[in-house]
Amino acid sequence: MEEKVTCDWATATEADKKQFPDFAAYHQKHGDNMAECDAWVCPCGNSTDTGGFRPCDANGNEVEPPDAGSTDILRFACNDCGRIILHSTGEVVGRNPNGTLL
Ligand SMILES: [Zn+2]
Repeated sequence: MEEKVTCDWATATEADKKQFPDFAAYHQKHGDNMAECDAWVCPCGNSTDTGGFRPCDANGNEVEPPDAGSTDILRFACNDCGRIILHSTGEVVGRNPNGTLL
C-alpha cells in the first residue's frame, strides 16, 4: 500500500477540538488535501510538532524553501526517518535516512 502523511488533527482529542475550534474546523475542511495541512504526521510517527520536516530535493537532501510562486515540485523530508514526501499530495515517494542538511 502506498504511504501517505496524515493530519495530526484527525486524531485530536475532544478537549483539543474544544480548545482550538478554528484549527479543528480548518483541518476537518481540508480533508485529504494534504497540501493545505500544516500538521503532518509521517507514517513513522514524527509530526510537524515534534521532529518536523524539511524542504528537500528528489534525493532527500535539504534545499532552501522555494520562493513564493515557484513552480518547482515541492518535497519535504521527514527529519526522523528520511521519508521523502510530495507536498501536493502528502504521498511518500522515497526515503533517504542519510539526506544532507544545509
Ligand atoms: Zn518519518
